[in-house]
Amino acid sequence: MPAADPTHTVHPTPVTHTGAHGSLPGGEGRKVFFVSFGCQMNVLDAELVLGDLDRNGYGRTDKMKDADVVLINTCSIREHAEDKVWSLLGRARQVKETRPKMKIGVMGCMAQRVKDEIVHRAPHVDLVLGTSSFRSAVQDLDDLFDGGGRIVRTSNRPDPVFLPDADRNVTVRPDAYRAFVTIMRGCNHSCTYCIVPHTRGKEVSRPLPEILDEVKRLVDDGAREVTFLGQNINTYGQDLHPKRKHTGEICTLLEHAAEVEGLDRIRFLTSNPFDMTEDMMRRFGAVEKVMPWLHIPAQSGSDEVLRRMQRTYTVAQYHEVVGWARTHIPGVEITSDFIVGFSGETDEDFEGTKRLVEDIGFLQTYVFKYSVRPKTLSARRLPDDVPEDVKKRRNVELLGVQDALATKRNQGLIGETVRILVEGISKSDDTRISGRDRCNRIVHAPGDASMSGRMADVQIAEAGAHSFIGDLVRVEGDGERWPDA
Ligand code: SF4
Repeated sequence: MPAADPTHTVHPTPVTHTGAHGSLPGGEGRKVFFVSFGCQMNVLDAELVLGDLDRNGYGRTDKMKDADVVLINTCSIREHAEDKVWSLLGRARQVKETRPKMKIGVMGCMAQRVKDEIVHRAPHVDLVLGTSSFRSAVQDLDDLFDGGGRIVRTSNRPDPVFLPDADRNVTVRPDAYRAFVTIMRGCNHSCTYCIVPHTRGKEVSRPLPEILDEVKRLVDDGAREVTFLGQNINTYGQDLHPKRKHTGEICTLLEHAAEVEGLDRIRFLTSNPFDMTEDMMRRFGAVEKVMPWLHIPAQSGSDEVLRRMQRTYTVAQYHEVVGWARTHIPGVEITSDFIVGFSGETDEDFEGTKRLVEDIGFLQTYVFKYSVRPKTLSARRLPDDVPEDVKKRRNVELLGVQDALATKRNQGLIGETVRILVEGISKSDDTRISGRDRCNRIVHAPGDASMSGRMADVQIAEAGAHSFIGDLVRVEGDGERWPDA
């Protein structure tokens, strides 16, 4: 999954009802300094916990020095992400010296991966919650404030009272009109560089009725677009129906979600090249509300590197999957992830990666330098033998190839009119609105905050590698509901 903005802000709708698990609002008056790192899955996990804190009386602060609770939602995908957490924990220790009643918690992938190290290296941390256990945060904080001590929960089999996706408070979201929905957790693959199977365990899918109920509640709260999340959505539901030979359960979910009245757009992440079939692409393309955008991580354009990564497809098979998408999903745009400098990657392998980027024509790619993660298969079996300066050079070079190609392709859109769902005022220019079109292209146009959450037609005037600027043609009026086409 592509990395998300590491700092999490919340759509601040006040809620007053009783807590998720029948607990009383024990957090009354306490303020939480909350920081989240990592992928979209972590953004959503942050929302789940923030929703619980909110409805149990805990407030928020953006200053650590004023906090009663410091809670950090962590990521283990790269060493750098973990380094930032250690540094934050150092700051929190200093603050705690002046606020001894303050509680410090660490949740998520790093809490799962290095729980023992956190316990020993950071005795000032009161709460450690793994990837399946974080929904007990409110109860645990209440207990810590009442009785002190330390709580560590990192079992992969969560307490049934605190299932990760149970009873979401849908009113606490960073974006009023778009929402993430977890459809499955964990991963059954074993890509050699990846820490996820270790930190998040095997695939567990949520039952379809439970997901649909959450979607309806989100739509009732104003969401017009949902993005379904899973590490490998292609196999959604297989664990729920182990006797069924095949799959396509993700398509059934999309078809049912499309019937939810008031929902305009559906996206999903991540569509890996493996476990994908042509029939699945056909079904994606047949549902109008499913947006023509797929994130299909390639990781490398070399069969030899893909083999060492245990990605279980070849470059030719990757092309075949993209071909199915382009045949059955009109106008589809593809985004991708690449790792450069993986163990044994030669100049020739890297040339293959550049060639794949040129041949496919991605809307966007996320490029990462290989970073060895302890406890992964590659850490145990493969040398990290590409020098750092070579990794850096390949990273810059690949992004250069992508940006040049994307700019050229994107300029072909100048003069066209696209429909966007307005997300709000642009972060870089407050005279403009920003939104995404059906293909997930970021588009800016003149406008104001009153247009947020409305559909708008924008004629593209300028195109860069990552976004577009256009002229506003028209905006959905009060009480109007445009079809998204
Ligand atoms: S598919 Fe591979 S890269 Fe993705 S989460 Fe699973 S093991 Fe990691």
